[in-house]
Amino acid sequence: MSYKKIMTIIAVMIAIMFICSCNPVNQKKTGKTDWLKNWEKNNKVWKGMHFSPLEAKEFDPLKKFITEVMVPKGLNALVLEINYSFKFKSHPELAGTGFDKKQARQLVELCHQNNIRLIPLFNCIGHQSDGGENTFALLQKYPQFDETPYAPADNNGIYCREWCPSNPDVYPIVFDLIDEIIDAFHADAINVGMDEIFLLGDPNCPYCKGGNTAKIFANAVNKFHHHIVNEKGIEMHMWGDRLLKASEHGYEGEKEVSKTGTDAAIDMIPKDIVICDWHYWWRPQFTSVQHFVDKGFRVWPTTWRQATGGITFCQAAQKCNSDKALGMLFTGWYISSPDQLTDVINNDLEKYKNAENEFRIPYAEGILETMDKTLAEMDKSLN
Ligand SMILES: [Zn+2]
Repeated sequence: MSYKKIMTIIAVMIAIMFICSCNPVNQKKTGKTDWLKNWEKNNKVWKGMHFSPLEAKEFDPLKKFITEVMVPKGLNALVLEINYSFKFKSHPELAGTGFDKKQARQLVELCHQNNIRLIPLFNCIGHQSDGGENTFALLQKYPQFDETPYAPADNNGIYCREWCPSNPDVYPIVFDLIDEIIDAFHADAINVGMDEIFLLGDPNCPYCKGGNTAKIFANAVNKFHHHIVNEKGIEMHMWGDRLLKASEHGYEGEKEVSKTGTDAAIDMIPKDIVICDWHYWWRPQFTSVQHFVDKGFRVWPTTWRQATGGITFCQAAQKCNSDKALGMLFTGWYISSPDQLTDVINNDLEKYKNAENEFRIPYAEGILETMDKTLAEMDKSLN
């Protein structure tokens, strides 16, 4: 082959590679808006706040929290746990009394104006009841999806109800809900929860019976991933506890780590899932961030209301020295309204004296102290 021919072939190959890299179909698959590309460029360290289910009356307190607390503190992401609180149109039988689409749009607009990424969360599989006797909408309306239908109606003896991840009929309904949330919040990412799952693979479940828990868990993760990442073109986030083997990490109990064998799923799921790795209490070592990074995942360490816990977890994440360790996510568990955090900051606590929610104020104080001290620790490393 002549030199000229070889050069022509090389030129054609380079041209093909260039055309492929510019292919708008490839670009579209990532689903990234200009706003998100800009946010990613300007926010190399993710500083997030998480709130659990919000009633419609929390709309104004949340807006106030965004502008008066998140912006001054430099927080750049808001994880809103929606679950069945949303006023779903696709499945009115599952609709709650929380935000509607119009409010969702207003929230995301406010967030985007303030350089804050809004990531909705919808709890999948686990947490289908409130830890007490209240079972949430899906299993109330569709009891056939229950992993343990034989468990007492008041949930006595189980942590939370779960839906069966091996029942194919559950997915079309759940995908409708997820799609509606994605649309309402113009979401470029959604967190599918999947934490603290204990019942999956129940020997009495006709769909799961005899199955391997890791495979059952991974199959479910992969179904969500296919729908959210491949079909909707956005990012998938999930809690990380089911992917950590209890005996390989020092975390205590069975909530932060798995004792049911689901951890082996870590090698069966796509690496572009963002893992929200939650650990709330001080300990000499936090081994999970490095573990997830080594496995190829991006990981968002998540803390709560103990400042020493937040600081040491943050330091452990920084030691990984990896851009896959994304920053820190602060949770607002036990806070019934974002107002409680704003009121603690403004020392406006008189109204809580002898009120039903007075006991929540120490939680708010702990959350704010953890946030401030951990943010200071993060900034230290940037200076
Ligand atoms: Zn099952």
